[in-house]
Order: sequence, then C-alpha cells, then structure tokens
Amino acid sequence: MTNSLQNLHTIQKELEDVAKLSPHTPKTPQVIAISKYFTKEDVLPLIKANHRLFGENKVQEAWDKWTPLKQTYPDLCLHLVGSLQSNKVDKAITLFDVIETLDRPSLAQALHQEWTKNLDHFPDLFIQVNTGAEEQKGGVLPKDASPFIQYCCKELKLPVKGLMCIPPADEPAAIHFSYLRTLAIQHDLSILSMGMSQDYKIAAQFGASYVRVGQAIFGKRPT
Ligand SMILES: *Cc1c(COP(=O)(O)O)cnc(C)c1O
Repeated sequence: MTNSLQNLHTIQKELEDVAKLSPHTPKTPQVIAISKYFTKEDVLPLIKANHRLFGENKVQEAWDKWTPLKQTYPDLCLHLVGSLQSNKVDKAITLFDVIETLDRPSLAQALHQEWTKNLDHFPDLFIQVNTGAEEQKGGVLPKDASPFIQYCCKELKLPVKGLMCIPPADEPAAIHFSYLRTLAIQHDLSILSMGMSQDYKIAAQFGASYVRVGQAIFGKRPT
C-alpha cells in the first residue's frame, strides 16, 4: 500500500525547490494528480487532504468516477488529458474544467459550436502539440502548430490558455519542454502543461505551470 498523500507532498516540495532555482519558473508548478484506472477510494485520501486538481484520460471513465465526487466536493478541478472524440464534446465540457487535448480542426469546430451555445460554462482549452511527431500520439504536429494555434485563437476565438505535450519516451524531455515553452511565448500563451512521473522536475526547470503525475503519486497503475 503506497501512501499517495505522502508522495504528493514529496513531489510538491521537490517542485518548490526546482522553481526557486529556475529563472523560467516564476511560480511553483501545480500538480495534477492523474487518476486514470485508479478508483474513487484511491483519490479520496487526497481530496480529504484538500487536493483539488485531478486529471483523467477517458471521458466515460471520468464521468462515472467524478460525477458523484463533484456533488460532494464542488470545487474539484478536473483536466482531460486524453484524446477527445468530437461526439463526446458535450459530456466533456459538462464535466471538465480544462480540456488539454485540442489537436485538430474538426475538434476545434465541434468545441466552437458548443462555445457559441454555452458561454456560461465552458472549460479552458490547451492545445496538445505532438513535439516528437510520433504516429501513435495525439497532438498537432510541430510544422502545423503555429497556424493551428492562430486558427483556434484568432479565427474561432476559442478560450485557448496554454499548450500541452507528451515527449517521446526515448528522447531527452528537456528539448521538448524547451520547444513547447518557446512556442507558447511566440503565441502569447502563458500556461504550459508538461512533465509526468519520470520528468516532472525537468519540466519544472523549463517553466511548467502544471505537471501531470500519476504513478509517482498513486503507485503502479492497475491494468
Ligand atoms: C497517464 C498520463 C500521465 C501520467 O503518467 P504517469 O507516468 O503515471 O505519471 C500524464 N499525462 C498524460 C497525458 C497521461 O495520459
């Protein structure tokens, strides 16, 4: 049995220490506890200790797990970090506070349609960039990233607040984090979601606003 709360506190302390030393990190990154495949019972100790920021990668799984929890804890903040199909946009904007995986024009258009209908409750959006141009991964390719960001922000006027990436497992993450940071600055976006269990400290050095940490908090993910 791992102690998830202890793990979270250790990570937060490490991030504070890195942020103090990094010129790119004006604020300590916030930890999104990624709870995919973990249960309500797994997340409750963190919630009871006042952690409010969680992430999931599947809309339906998140819906079943978090709808009841949100009734008891209405100030929970949920991020969608997995790919979003256009036919699940409806549900996703109801449940999530941030959608981190905007990555293609068809999804931007589906979100835009909901955005024009429902200006009261709409999540913030991050654009996912496939910085390693990996075939199996979601995200806009680096060569298309600038025009896509422009399209979402200027043409559709969607509430895009930041960028997100998942670097290739077999390359130094620092190059990817540095690239994402530069791209965000070019487009006047201030939020960066980057860094997972393996590399959150590196992400913090490059000015991450959010790190997305699962197994380093909860232990090995059930399959
Ligand atoms: C699963 C997942 C994470 C967390 O991964 P860990 O290795 O458990 O920290 C972070 N980001 C995304 C997009 C994920 O799908």
